Amino acid sequence: MNLSTPCIFERAETFGARTAISTSQGDYTYADLLDASGRIASGLLQGRADLDQERVCFLAARGFSWTALQWGIWRAGGIAVPLSELHPQQEMEYVVRDSQAAHLVTHTDFHDRMQSLAGATQLSLSTKDQLLESEKGVLPMVDLARRAMILYTSGTTGKPKGVVSTHANLEAQINALVEAWGWSKDDRILHVLPLHHVHGIVNALSCALYAGACCEFLPRFDAEEVWRKFVESPLTIFMAVPTIYVKLIGAWQAAPPERQGDMSQACRKMRLMVSGSAALPVSVWEKWRDISGQALLERYGMTEIGMALSNPLVGERRAGFVGTPLPGVQVYLVDESNAQVPEGQPGEILVKGPAVFNEYWQRPEETEKSFRDGWFITGDMAVVERGSWRILGRKSTDIIKTGGYKVSALEIEDVLLEHPAIAECAVVGVDDLEWGERVAAALVLVPQGTVTLEELRDWGKKRLAPYKLPSVMLPVQELPRNAMGKVTKPAVRKLFET
Ligand code: ATP
Ligand code: MG
Repeated sequence: MNLSTPCIFERAETFGARTAISTSQGDYTYADLLDASGRIASGLLQGRADLDQERVCFLAARGFSWTALQWGIWRAGGIAVPLSELHPQQEMEYVVRDSQAAHLVTHTDFHDRMQSLAGATQLSLSTKDQLLESEKGVLPMVDLARRAMILYTSGTTGKPKGVVSTHANLEAQINALVEAWGWSKDDRILHVLPLHHVHGIVNALSCALYAGACCEFLPRFDAEEVWRKFVESPLTIFMAVPTIYVKLIGAWQAAPPERQGDMSQACRKMRLMVSGSAALPVSVWEKWRDISGQALLERYGMTEIGMALSNPLVGERRAGFVGTPLPGVQVYLVDESNAQVPEGQPGEILVKGPAVFNEYWQRPEETEKSFRDGWFITGDMAVVERGSWRILGRKSTDIIKTGGYKVSALEIEDVLLEHPAIAECAVVGVDDLEWGERVAAALVLVPQGTVTLEELRDWGKKRLAPYKLPSVMLPVQELPRNAMGKVTKPAVRKLFET
């Protein structure tokens, strides 16, 4: 084995005729993936020996086309920059310009959208089918130390930043999860997540391909379709963000009783269901267990570091907790003066290890600010309780400073969501002359509910300390979310300013 080549390709050679990807268009083997990506690489190279780390922005149908393009860009020596169909033209343009892309590639389905993007950015556009016409020639060696991908952060707290991951970073991220979650070639995952984010790209797709498993794609998330797949397909793994589990619970509740039994039974056959990318409320964890018999495995990570903390595959998975550090990842908590805090005390999460990125694309100052003595400063707060980590939220928006107390918005959201009339909620701190900040909650109430805010407040008083009880409760139709489905707290704060 050549140690400086990403194992994902070498392993794919050995999986040959096994099914790598399954979509509504058909099944594709590992050999298909190697063949198509080899030809795409040659097509991109057009006789050159190496793409020399040029950025290639691509938009393709979820499944085989997307993966063949990603692998093709890698094999040509380029840096893959995935675009998202969920993004309006303006955001795609931001990514193309910010990454200083040299090429745009697409798939027939998106040709018109990409054509106008090409016009706006004055780049040439190739299609996957054009590239596939090439014969696979001699390809450059894919070196582990080279940059592989630029993923833009979700933009939950500001403008999305381009996170550069090397092949070695990605392999470390994949290795940790394959080991911790026991991935094998007998696995089959249902993939419903966006492909411009670490969750969908690394945790779901790349881990499956590294292990020789099968990745079955839905064109997009649809609760009914997911339930149908759970019942009909021999799945072993499912991964999603908390809002998806909320929607699946809703669809289960709306199903006729005779169907509900089949749906629940189907979940019991699967070996692993994972949640992450945002906090999973305890009430959702419990409802899901009642419906599916599955104790959701919650994990914590971010674009910059891959996954850092995970509940165990074997052993107790605690609702409201994200477990312990993954293999090869060093994690610890510090206070304001950078001293490590003892168990039971809140601190900011710092992370180090081969999975951690080296740089934000073309943002040396941001990069510099994000590291201290080689440790990445996540900006997230947590506390360790009985050996497991509990995320308190983002330092910038989720830790509310009110009357000398520091309270976690996530903790209050968890309590509010126990009320049957509250479907969704977002807690923020709003400026207050007397208290510094006061706790405010935006609430999405269940349809046909009759609860009054007065009743909610009385209910809350019994469960929350007075300084944690939201002093303002605002019913809203929906919460502001970004393309990843994450609640954008700065936008929630604005709701209280008007
Ligand atoms: P941006 O950096 O642009 O503001 P973002 O931080 O949302 O966007 P991502 O890298 O997609 O971009 O998300 C990582 C963040 O998601 C983490 O820093 C953390 O705040 C949150 N997160 C991930 N998993 C969990 C979890 N299990 N519980 C709570 N929060 C989580
Ligand atoms: Mg972030």
